[in-house]
Amino acid sequence: VSFGFADVARDDKASLVRGVFDRSARRYDLMNDLMSLGIHRVWKDMVMTRANPQPGEVHIDVAGGTGDLARSFLAKADAVAARRGDDRKATAIVLDINEQMLRAGVKRGLKPHEDGRIDWVTGNAECLPLPDRTAHCVTISTGIRNVTDRAAALKEMRRVLKPGGRFLCLEFTRPTSRAWEKAYDAWSFNVMPELGHYVAKDRESYQYLVESIRRFPNQDDFADELRAAGFRRVSYTNFSGGIAALHVGWA
Ligand code: SAM
Repeated sequence: VSFGFADVARDDKASLVRGVFDRSARRYDLMNDLMSLGIHRVWKDMVMTRANPQPGEVHIDVAGGTGDLARSFLAKADAVAARRGDDRKATAIVLDINEQMLRAGVKRGLKPHEDGRIDWVTGNAECLPLPDRTAHCVTISTGIRNVTDRAAALKEMRRVLKPGGRFLCLEFTRPTSRAWEKAYDAWSFNVMPELGHYVAKDRESYQYLVESIRRFPNQDDFADELRAAGFRRVSYTNFSGGIAALHVGWA
């Protein structure tokens, strides 16, 4: 396990985001479960199915928090390796701006098969402390919404992909039907900040998270942002009626 370079937050938004996750890092997984009624686990599993991890591949999970996706990537790559009798081991880099999130992930412990195969790196998605063409697969799950300069981060994630590599981005988005949007707004504006208050003792931070979801571009506009960053064959899939969407692009 290694911690890489320490980032300096570049502006207020970055500091606020860092604060939000600093305060709630330890309760973060529990909050995720409560806020999405456990559905985020299903979404993440769908992301990894689309990521299609292979033996020997390098995975980078940007804004990777406690490392859920990286662990899943290794497990799925190992299952493929076992089926094929391939002994190449996949490896992963979990990068996050907040060291506390990474530490919470490390503290959770590594399963024997994960040992030595995950690097934990503190860094900013807008300026990744990683060489060009490092990874076969780059993911970012409910993280791009918090990044100040989204265009810079998308270009960086494109830069660290090997030619032909894949990029998958899971993010909270807007429901696609009016009725569903109304119900979702009621949930997110009334219930989520209350959950933040009672579970993480931090109503304001969760209010901020709800607002950041509202401000995020719609699925088509975000797909255009991926194209502008140089990704090819961009597509997206809505999850749970558009509460979240998975955008996929290729280097
Ligand atoms: N990807 C993890 C998951 O799906 O469980 C964590 C998601 S959490 C909602 C958002 C994460 O983004 C936090 O861990 C936060 O520290 C990180 N983050 C926010 N801004 C970032 C940035 N500019 N660069 C890297 N990580 C960032």
